[in-house]
Amino acid sequence: MGRVTRSTEVNNFDDSLGLYWYEKLDENPDQALASIALSFTQHISSHLGINPSSVHWFAKADAAYAAGCRRASDDAQPSPLDDPVLYSCPYFRISDPGGIVHHGMTPFFSCGHVLIQTGLSSQDTLKAIAHECYHLYQDWLRGPQWRQDHYEVAETEAAGFADSQMNEIESLLSPVD
Ligand SMILES: [Zn+2]
Repeated sequence: MGRVTRSTEVNNFDDSLGLYWYEKLDENPDQALASIALSFTQHISSHLGINPSSVHWFAKADAAYAAGCRRASDDAQPSPLDDPVLYSCPYFRISDPGGIVHHGMTPFFSCGHVLIQTGLSSQDTLKAIAHECYHLYQDWLRGPQWRQDHYEVAETEAAGFADSQMNEIESLLSPVD
């Protein structure tokens, strides 16, 4: 696997607030992976019977720099729960005192937006897409409030679905690796 090492040394954690900072990117620097990701997203969406979601790429951002840019912007993500795709400021944060690695996120009340971190292995990228698309499926099936009210169940279900797609992911990736 071609592991991209971009941004891995960036300190994106503000430990006084328990916030991780990220930056939306216009595109994934790995164009080949972005292309596989797009077709996989369409495949998973049709498998789940949901409208194809749009994948938005993000990277870790330096916490102090990103916080400064956000303060200077008049169109930045208001709260860490809000969908970063809806605001022009590229910097956004995720509240997570537990220190989970954010391979991806699907905002609550997402308008079909899935955000996936760049720099992951191909397997982890597609697994993150399967996981996040499953959250969109949960929103469609049970209404947008359900995930907030049943966070642990929602995560367990999404992780199980992503695991169930690993054989398919491996076979999809095998011709190019
Ligand atoms: Zn999740």
